Formats: sequence, structure tokens, C-alpha cells
Amino acid sequence: MSGTVYVGRFAPSPSGPLHAGSLAAALASWLDARACSGRWLVRIEDVDAPRTVASADECILAQLRALGLHWDGEVVWQSRRGDLYQRAFDSLAARGLVYGCGCTRRDIADSLSGAGMDGERPYPGTCRNGLASGRQARAWRVRVLPGIEHFDDRWRGPQEQDVACAVGDFVLKRADGLWAYQLAVVVDDAEQGVTDVVRGADLLGSTARQRVLGRLLGLPLPRVMHVPLVVDPVTGLKMSKQNHAQAVGTDKPVSALDAAWRSLGFSALPAPDVPAFLAAATARWARRFPMPK
Ligand SMILES: [Zn+2]
Repeated sequence: MSGTVYVGRFAPSPSGPLHAGSLAAALASWLDARACSGRWLVRIEDVDAPRTVASADECILAQLRALGLHWDGEVVWQSRRGDLYQRAFDSLAARGLVYGCGCTRRDIADSLSGAGMDGERPYPGTCRNGLASGRQARAWRVRVLPGIEHFDDRWRGPQEQDVACAVGDFVLKRADGLWAYQLAVVVDDAEQGVTDVVRGADLLGSTARQRVLGRLLGLPLPRVMHVPLVVDPVTGLKMSKQNHAQAVGTDKPVSALDAAWRSLGFSALPAPDVPAFLAAATARWARRFPMPK
């Protein structure tokens, strides 16, 4: 495997501690990096400041440590990387690829009848050719060119999305002045040299947008794998902080890891301790997902 470069990452948003769903994504990403003898980075995605919960980041890092999911290098926080996002934004703006949008959510809803991907409504391009008189720019959008974005998902196989139709010109800088998640992720992955993104399937719908943006910025595009979401056995809903998923306990780390492992579709993996569990899981993962080319 010499000469092969693999850089993976886990990028939790600190809106609460790790729950069953985010732990499964962390474990999958960690296993894939270790199975490929790669590096594994942790990035705190706190760009959405209103959703950030104080000290949730420290809690997540403590949970990862307690579960033996050690990372390489320094943890980075998106909230401290605004200069990078500004530079990317400026380079797009200098090429005429960004425009100000004066629409409110209500304006956009009123101008559309159908819903797009994930129930989101595609932006109809109202301000693409300039703001209506009396309107001021609230958010800043990127111009999406027509065409279908194709990519291969290492878990799900070939995927495609027509971003212009399904999403439209999407926001890079929000009406509240914050950087949009899509811009921050694309810039960070490239700046950190990430080659492989392994994350929950709830982000599958963002992938085409991120590839469109990465290409406009002239950045290398990482391989992707979207692992199944953990569903609450009682409610059938996706495990998430919004659905009040419980924090993962770390007093029985092998049990916590095994539960995450089984939620990814593998059979139980009895092990006496965390290092033995992770070694066995890494070996099984490597057989199921050989090193990507
Ligand atoms: Zn608009």
C-alpha cells in the first residue's frame, strides 16, 4: 500500500453529544481510514453558530477518546476558518459566479408549487439576472450550470443528480451573514487534503452540490461513501439530535462500539476490550471495502 494516500475525516456538528447515529458514522469513517492505513482527521462543523451547543465539541472529543477512536493531527473548528471561506467566495465572485439574492423564504415558497430533493424547494433563479428594484441582497448564491452530476458512492454505487433542476443556485453566504455549510465543507475537505468522505446517508443529497462547487473552485473531489442511517427502533425516525437521540454512554465502550458496528449491518463482534474490537472490526471492514483505487 506504499505510495497510496488516504485522508479521511469525521466532521460532527456540535449541536449535542454523539448519539447512536453519529457514532456509527464516526466508526465507519475511522475503520475505513485505518483499513486503508490512512490518516483520520476530526473537524468540528460549528459554522452554523445558532445550532452550536456550548461544550458539545469537548463532549464529542471526550466520547471519541473513550471509545478508542483516536484521530491524527490537530482538531479544527470551522468557526475559526472564515478567512478560507472568504477567499473561496471571492474567487468565485471575481469570475461572476456569485450573485446577491433578495428573496425571503416566503418569496421562494410563493413562486413554486413543486418540491425538490429532500422536500427542499429548488431556488427558481429570481435574482439571477439582478435584484428587483427596491430589493437588497440578503444571501449570496452560486450560479449552477445545467448538467447532471454523476458520482460513485462506495456503499450505494452510481449516483446522479441534476443540481440545477433539483436545487438550483444554492446559498454560499446566508442572510444571517454566516457561511453556508456546503461552502465550508468543500473548502475544508480540499484544504485538509481529504481523499475520502465516509458519512451518514442524510448527507447523500448534498454530495452533488459539493462536487459542483468543488469543480467551480478547481479543487480535487474526494471519493464518498454514505453509510446507512441509524433508525430509532420505536419511532422509526432517523436518530438525530432533533429527534432527541440519547448521548452514547462510554462506560461500556465495547458494547457501544458493537452496537454502532451492528447498526452498519455487520454481525456482532465479541471482543474482550476496545483495541481487540477495533482490530477485528478493521480487518472485517478491509475485506468488505478494499482500498479504493
Ligand atoms: Zn432571490
